[in-house]
Amino acid sequence: MASDPYQSFGRIKPDKRRAVSPEEGLARIGDGPLADGFLPFGKGLSYGDSCHNDAGQLIDMGQADRILSFDTQTGLLDAEAGVDLQAIIAQCGPHGWFLPVTPGTRFVTLGGAIANDVHGKNHHRRGTFGAHVESLTIARSDSGIREISARKEAELFHATIGGMGLTGVILSARLRMMPVRSLDVVQTITPFDTIGDYLAMAEEADAKNEYAVAWIDQLASGAKQGRGVLLAANHAESGSKGDAAPGQARLSVPFQPPINVLNRPFLKLFNGAYRFSQIRKAGAPIRTSWQSYFYPLDSVRNWNRLYGPKGLYQHQSVVPYETAADALPALLDAAQKEQAGSFLTVLKRFGEMGRAGLIGFARPGYTLTLDFPNQGERTRRLMDRLDAITVAAGGAVNPYKDARMSPRTFKAGFPDWAKLEAMRDPCLISDYWRRTAIVLKQDG
Ligand SMILES: Cc1cc2nc3c(=O)[nH]c(=O)nc-3n(C[C@H](O)[C@H](O)[C@H](O)COP(=O)(O)OP(=O)(O)OC[C@H]3O[C@@H](n4cnc5c(N)ncnc54)[C@H](O)[C@@H]3O)c2cc1C
Repeated sequence: MASDPYQSFGRIKPDKRRAVSPEEGLARIGDGPLADGFLPFGKGLSYGDSCHNDAGQLIDMGQADRILSFDTQTGLLDAEAGVDLQAIIAQCGPHGWFLPVTPGTRFVTLGGAIANDVHGKNHHRRGTFGAHVESLTIARSDSGIREISARKEAELFHATIGGMGLTGVILSARLRMMPVRSLDVVQTITPFDTIGDYLAMAEEADAKNEYAVAWIDQLASGAKQGRGVLLAANHAESGSKGDAAPGQARLSVPFQPPINVLNRPFLKLFNGAYRFSQIRKAGAPIRTSWQSYFYPLDSVRNWNRLYGPKGLYQHQSVVPYETAADALPALLDAAQKEQAGSFLTVLKRFGEMGRAGLIGFARPGYTLTLDFPNQGERTRRLMDRLDAITVAAGGAVNPYKDARMSPRTFKAGFPDWAKLEAMRDPCLISDYWRRTAIVLKQDG
């Protein structure tokens, strides 16, 4: 979880924040619109300011975290929005059910996963998280508490999935879980030398596997640029059902070092060692625990502190299939020209299903994720360059990983933003929304 209360994962603005309880938040939004508004907050595992409302007030939805019911026959789960994915796995895994879609950390809340319509390594098979939500109970300042679904107030339901907390406070949700024989996976590792080689095999890997994601050695340049490993997997026929203690992280970064530890020399060593260790395992299918395949970073608590006091920026772009072969190397080139080292560089093919909500990040294409230590103006210049390449390729930059994109970049990737603004609860707003959509609205 985020290391300090109410920070976001990137820790770019480490202000001290406070939040009201769900009871107080609901009572106060019921009093009618407030200039500075409220925003539901999950666990702050978004990277930037889409989970912040510094001019107004946060509502700590993580406090409402009960599982209400689980039907072991149908896999239907009813839970309050603040329950985290780890608790859901602990409840459902032993009965042979897993999350149909999971992001790379199991500490996010159910409400946060729905509000950002998150994606996982199986987007090509299952779409986004919101595609598995049967119904929601939400509270709005202008119309109170109600249940919504694809059959009842469908427009509001679809706007709330991926609605970034703006169309109502999600109180609880009904989620359809996925049947599995085991949570563990059988993984096949395939090295590749260039982005072109990856693109040539990504679609087939998707067709054959439930999960597929690639790691890129972002510091490799010249003829080695774009080399990496493709990690494809399917659930094993037997193995863990998540019934062992769900577990807290075994390791922790106990304090924030005064400088960024994840610097270029460290990354060179890390990337070399990681690549070597993966290539040694390449070829034959190997059984891998669900914790290490889905959530490798969860084993070190507060690892984002390693970026030092200035925090990190993440840049996640998605570009259409047609432009990926040019745009992906251009994105890597831009980072290399700035000598910027990315600790985690992940490449994934999204399937045709796109998003489940009115607006959302996932769409057919390839998504590249880069993490950079915050070096001030220099890093922001690079991020602007990455935005420009993405937009020119017809793509989009992920809002819930962002802390600085321009209104123009947002509009280019999310042309339907005004429809969401029209459905926004007048009492709910975020810092991200203020500096993008509200600026666009004011500019007419
Ligand atoms: C290590 C790591 C790996 C990640 N991997 C992935 C990945 O693979 N795929 C992916 O898509 N994302 C990924 N993410 C991002 C993360 O999954 C999302 O940002 C997620 O939405 C965070 O959930 P949260 O509970 O922390 O919510 P927060 O970050 O606190 O809030 C997220 C949004 O949800 C809204 N919200 C929260 N609770 C409610 C509620 N009850 N009602 C209405 N709105 C609400 C907030 O207002 C905000 O807009 C990753 C993040 C980390 C740190």
